[in-house]
Amino acid sequence: MATLFERIIAREIPSTVVYEDDGYIAIKDIAPKAPVHLLVIPKRVSTRLDKIEDAQQLGELMQTAIRVAKSQLQDYRLVINVGQGGGQEVFHTHVHILGGWEGGNPVGFGG
Ligand code: AMP
Repeated sequence: MATLFERIIAREIPSTVVYEDDGYIAIKDIAPKAPVHLLVIPKRVSTRLDKIEDAQQLGELMQTAIRVAKSQLQDYRLVINVGQGGGQEVFHTHVHILGGWEGGNPVGFGG
């Protein structure tokens, strides 16, 4: 069965796309936890980050997340939830980009 994000990539479910290339899509999170909250999603499906064994694939995911983040924000937070206990709800690996807090002082992590 297709993941939620595969259905978004296929435009079966609407979303606000902010970036797309052959391998990745970035969309606005439907329930933002920060003034800017984007999701960077590889089109090649893996269930969770630690299932990606290829260093190039991991690097490309981070490079893409950084590129998308820098296109919108000066400073930002990248979050990857890994597994249910790590807060993952959609089992199609993705990177959260969070930012845009007033005064650059996000909640948590001693920020
Ligand atoms: P995670 O908890 O790391 O798996 O993150 C899943 C994220 O997907 C959550 O932040 C949700 O708000 C977001 N989300 C769920 N459904 C949609 C949707 N249809 N469009 C955009 N984001 C979504």
